[in-house]
Amino acid sequence: MTDCIFCKIVAGQIPSKKVLETDQVLVFHDIQPAAKVHVLAIPKKHIASLRDVEEADAPIIAEVILALKRAAQELGIAESGYRVINNCGSDGGQVVHHIHFHLLGGEKLGALVGNS
Ligand code: AMP
Ligand code: ZN
Repeated sequence: MTDCIFCKIVAGQIPSKKVLETDQVLVFHDIQPAAKVHVLAIPKKHIASLRDVEEADAPIIAEVILALKRAAQELGIAESGYRVINNCGSDGGQVVHHIHFHLLGGEKLGALVGNS
């Protein structure tokens, strides 16, 4: 996808602060952190959102989840705990249409919106 910000980050056309990288996955710091630790895990393959994930993508999504676990360890928040968020579509507040999972931690996080 030529006009996708996260595909451009994967291609190295837009700089990012990388946490870790595998063949299929990239984890990098969010440019506007919403917590003391805030990184994003993405598949390198362009998948627009969770609703676009297909059966064949299951291994890639599993690798993203394992990368989130590893990133939490490397960022020192595995023991203190963290939150993983995926925003999907308009009501979910998705802004970048390349699937990504937010990893938030490094401090006590507030209640989820609409659940307080
Ligand atoms: P979402 O609302 O779930 O689509 O979140 C998109 C996230 O991407 C936001 O938290 C942005 O701060 C983040 N973001 C946008 N552009 C960049 C970028 N160039 N590098 C790192 N994070 C970005
Ligand atoms: Zn993309």
